[in-house]
Amino acid sequence: MNYRFESLREAHSHRPVEVTVPSAQAKVFYAQSVFTPDKMHEYISENILDELFDAIQEQRPLSRDIANSVAIGMKCWAQDLGATHYTHWFQPLTGGTAEKHDTFIDFDRTGKMIDDFSGDELYQQEPDASSFPSGGLRNTFEARGYTAWDPTSPVFVVGDRLCIPSVFVAYTGEALDYKTPLLRSVDKLNKAAVNLCRLFDKTVRSVHANLGWEQEYFLVDEALYNARPDLALTGRTLMGHPSSKSQQLDDHYFGNIPERVIRFMTDLEVEALKLGIPIKTRHNEVAPNQFELAPIFEEVNLASDHNLLLMTVMKKVARRHHFRVLLHEKPFAGINGSGKHCNWSIATDTGINLLAPGKNPYQNLQFVTFLVNVLAAVRRHNGLLKASISSATNAHRLGANEAPPAIISVFLGKQLSEVLDSLEKAPAEKAIIINAKKEVKLGAVTVPEILLDNTDRNRTSPFAFTGNRFEFRAVGSSANCGAPMFALNTAVADQLTAFAAEINALMDKGVAKEKAIFQVLQKTIRYCRPILFEGNGYSEEWKEEAAQRGLDTEVAVPLIIDRYLSQESVALFERTGVLSTKELISRCEVKWANYNGKIQIESRLLGDLARNHIVPAVNRYLNTLLDHAEHKIGVFDETVQTIVDHLHEVMVHVDKMATLRAKANDITSQREQAIAYHDNVLPEMEIVRKHVDELEMIVDDELWTLPKYRELLFIH
Ligand code: ADP
Ligand code: MG
Repeated sequence: MNYRFESLREAHSHRPVEVTVPSAQAKVFYAQSVFTPDKMHEYISENILDELFDAIQEQRPLSRDIANSVAIGMKCWAQDLGATHYTHWFQPLTGGTAEKHDTFIDFDRTGKMIDDFSGDELYQQEPDASSFPSGGLRNTFEARGYTAWDPTSPVFVVGDRLCIPSVFVAYTGEALDYKTPLLRSVDKLNKAAVNLCRLFDKTVRSVHANLGWEQEYFLVDEALYNARPDLALTGRTLMGHPSSKSQQLDDHYFGNIPERVIRFMTDLEVEALKLGIPIKTRHNEVAPNQFELAPIFEEVNLASDHNLLLMTVMKKVARRHHFRVLLHEKPFAGINGSGKHCNWSIATDTGINLLAPGKNPYQNLQFVTFLVNVLAAVRRHNGLLKASISSATNAHRLGANEAPPAIISVFLGKQLSEVLDSLEKAPAEKAIIINAKKEVKLGAVTVPEILLDNTDRNRTSPFAFTGNRFEFRAVGSSANCGAPMFALNTAVADQLTAFAAEINALMDKGVAKEKAIFQVLQKTIRYCRPILFEGNGYSEEWKEEAAQRGLDTEVAVPLIIDRYLSQESVALFERTGVLSTKELISRCEVKWANYNGKIQIESRLLGDLARNHIVPAVNRYLNTLLDHAEHKIGVFDETVQTIVDHLHEVMVHVDKMATLRAKANDITSQREQAIAYHDNVLPEMEIVRKHVDELEMIVDDELWTLPKYRELLFIH
């Protein structure tokens, strides 16, 4: 039996699944499964809630009594939705999310079974966390990691459980997750930005970052997926010749969404909306069977939680529709991979987006100040930002002849570039005049009010300004947004602090505030120059030029990870208190180990598939050919020789790959092992694949056992 043909038959039999609830009724079920403030008022008394909200605002713990009351209300609400269990929902460094369910029941002193869920349980859970990666922060024999409630992200119910968004830390307090540093960075950014805002507007009390992610993904029919062990085990195809038709006609992008997919999307939107994820946009992406979905932006910590939650929900909903969702950055060679653009901006509690040109020149000065500071932060920490989005899986996308390149640069667009040019050149005597509320002159410069509609789009830029936000496009589709977001928040917070300090120092020397701002702005613009790039990010010339400009051009992931430990990065994280050196080191250890694990699995599986699928199929075909040759039917010499050559290469390199893998595995340092995997094992994998893909084109289709690209990508 050829499993591929079985799976093809099954795939063709899959029909669109009925969806009962149209997402048009969004308002009805939006946040149905979330413990929103409205519902809190139903289940928790007013004075307790006041205490709770004050405590959140002031970032202090609740008293035990108050925590108990909150827990009881929360439990009742969850039980009314059918929950029987609760779990802290957290984000270990493995990627994805983790949960450990406990029921709401307990025994009382008399041995009677009772309902129980107290403030203590709400606050803290101690999963036996010994198997989570900690990069040496926590020895397995003292597995005391614990999770603690993050009250800034609302609890929600999924299925039979109450999920409590939580941080995950070692017993000694070190972060073992993505959320902890994200929350710390949010706090730092708030303080630094408020401090600078006050130079412009004394009424600002808090500043927060917003994130609007755009999630790209592929859908593959479940039957075909099941016949591809590489998709099942690694999330990507380790072999497969490009389909004759792929994306050359550009007919998929924004095209008509296939019926079975639309049903999936509708179902997904409903599930997401119930969980309070404000889904807004859906469309076909560039590659066949590739799609995108984006919500309305939210506060960065909440948005990041929502993205993680969505990725879980997607997988579940896809199965109802006999699809599998692929979140891997590069499931298929030769066509576009998937990213997760992170649209990032910062806004005040007074409703001002600090990255949008304002309604008056006064706000525009503030806008330019924040904009330039973001540029400076990205310039200073471009290596770190690259590290924050680097992984074994995203490496196939970055710098691999596809958006975006493995060099971080910023695209501003013509209009804004001109604003900065003239600002930089403006003579000092034309310094800004801030005349109470009346007038601001940035030298001779005015900032155009509406940038939004005419920001040019440069799709090759990994970090582009898009009118009222920055779009960090290098983030990978499977990533936890927390990693790039805490790096960016921290870098910007630190830069804002330094900027304000320089202004204050000048003012201490008697320089007028306006003049001081002007001077420091000019200096900062000059400093930003190397990060600004408006040209084609894919070009060879850019790689050379970027190196000359002093930007980070490293492409090997194991070495990019080093950027977390550069002097600049360590100082940044220590100074801001977002991560200690110890935490940074452990994080890198986990990243390298993760890299090694992923490539080890891929390489092993590639060897297995080559030996168990490819070689037997090719041999069968070869026998037929030789049989025909013997009977002098046609002349097959050349084909036979080609097949024999490829087959030989496959076998030789599978063996070589195994030897090199074994050698890499013997290396005890995770970093050195990652370098060995990168330098020695990966190239062998590519060679094996190349020959297998050639063979796929020669061997009789009937004998080929793995679903082909033209099947995986065009059946829906
Ligand atoms: P495009 O594909 O053109 O970049 P989309 O509409 O697909 O745009 O996605 C844009 C994302 O950016 C959405 O999540 C949107 O909510 C978000 N966004 C819009 N304005 C802001 C902002 N000021 N700050 C952060 N995110 C924003
Ligand atoms: Mg988009």
